[in-house]
Amino acid sequence: MANIVAIVGRPNVGKSTLFNRLIEQREAIMDDVSGVTRDRHYGKAEWIGKPFTVIDTGGYVVGSDDKYEEAIREQVNIAIEEASIILFMVDCNTGLTDLDKDFAKILRRSKKPVLIVANKADNTERMHASAEFYELGMGEVHAISSANGTGTGDLLDITVSHFDEPEEEVEEEEIPRIAVVGRPNAGKSSFVNTLLNQNRSIVTDEAGTTRDSVDAHYTAYGKSFILTDTAGIRKKAKVSENIEFYSVMRAIKSIEHSDVCIVIVDATRGLEAQDLNIIHLAKKNNKGILLMINKWDLVEKDSRTADTFEKALREKLSGIDHLPIIFTSVLTKQRIFKVIEKAIEVYEDKTKKIPTSQLNDILLKEIERTPPPSYRGKHIKIKYITQLPSKSPVFAFFCNHPKHIKEAYLRFLENKIRKHFGFEGVPLRIFFRKK
Ligand code: GDP
Ligand code: GDP
Repeated sequence: MANIVAIVGRPNVGKSTLFNRLIEQREAIMDDVSGVTRDRHYGKAEWIGKPFTVIDTGGYVVGSDDKYEEAIREQVNIAIEEASIILFMVDCNTGLTDLDKDFAKILRRSKKPVLIVANKADNTERMHASAEFYELGMGEVHAISSANGTGTGDLLDITVSHFDEPEEEVEEEEIPRIAVVGRPNAGKSSFVNTLLNQNRSIVTDEAGTTRDSVDAHYTAYGKSFILTDTAGIRKKAKVSENIEFYSVMRAIKSIEHSDVCIVIVDATRGLEAQDLNIIHLAKKNNKGILLMINKWDLVEKDSRTADTFEKALREKLSGIDHLPIIFTSVLTKQRIFKVIEKAIEVYEDKTKKIPTSQLNDILLKEIERTPPPSYRGKHIKIKYITQLPSKSPVFAFFCNHPKHIKEAYLRFLENKIRKHFGFEGVPLRIFFRKK
């Protein structure tokens, strides 16, 4: 189940400060390199072994004109619908404001858990001041300081206690679950509608766990697959400021319920920061990924255009390469088949198991040719390799000094696995274990 924590509250209460504290430090560093940090309002976090996605709602509405209030109001409603739990943040320093009361009015109607978080309780005095927020009549007030970390541990304990227990991994029918995601206007609805019209053999529309998440079963090209969250693809936000916010919320959910994500990119706009954020999120969730460069009919081209375009894309995608890239036009139905075919191929690759003997035969030779650099005179020896049982590929390399193998060598091994065994579009995880 997707656990999504939404932080809502008026501007300047400290939402993004808490957000930054919650998302993994390593993630922030990695993303700095690829320049994805800008525009980033959601990320993966984890507390006592429970992973969740956290979203900072404020950033999607800017300005303060008439439309601001309406936009904020809608955003809170979207958060109520889409998130699993809401952290309603207020500010002990300024105390209760009219805008806080407006938020509270909307949030009180929510059936989802809402925790009141009184931020900026940096000292005892402010901690006491937080009692003022009991006036909202929404239950316990959790005083924290996002700046220095006071109270955040207790808040997270309570937050994760509201999560759904992970479903037992029942061995269901092996039908690939495919998410169609992408920025507003990339062509998601058109793509899904095209599939719908071409394939009369839709089996059922299955109502998902939440009220308006609908998964559609298809049989096409001799294969069965499920498109996750087809309802969300067609629904749009009413206030234009929230189109991006809404689409991100749906994408997060849809990705978490899928095996493979088709990320649709508008060829006339190219790969943007938001596209990269979505791709990162899919990767972090260990989902298969396929890039569909749509509206290819609108691009003026000669025989080299696709190659040049692809090269530029791969540069932007450095560190998350090995993704299949397909140039499509939903309008002229160019290569629509191929996208589905490829998505299913990615799924099959994602679930395949390489026999241990084959892994060792091939990879140990590569390792012998290029052994891991020794660490302070210690010779590092990798003895054998096995693929662990798991929903997406995980490889364990057994060796004498697992802690002393560097990131660069891990990349080397990943490249060798891909070279010999494929796994295009499939995220791979590699662990070193003591033997
Ligand atoms: P947002 O608009 O709700 O996302 O608020 P920000 O996270 O941008 O924070 C607004 C201001 O409050 C910034 O200047 C922060 O440094 C400050 N701030 C955030 N959390 C705390 C806190 O716990 N204590 C104090 N004293 N200041 C904080
Ligand atoms: P969504 O917001 O991602 O669901 O995007 P839509 O499916 O609503 O498409 C946005 C606009 O792009 C619509 O006007 C579509 O007709 C148009 N569109 C979608 N795919 C293509 C394509 O391959 N070529 C062209 N020229 N237009 C497209």
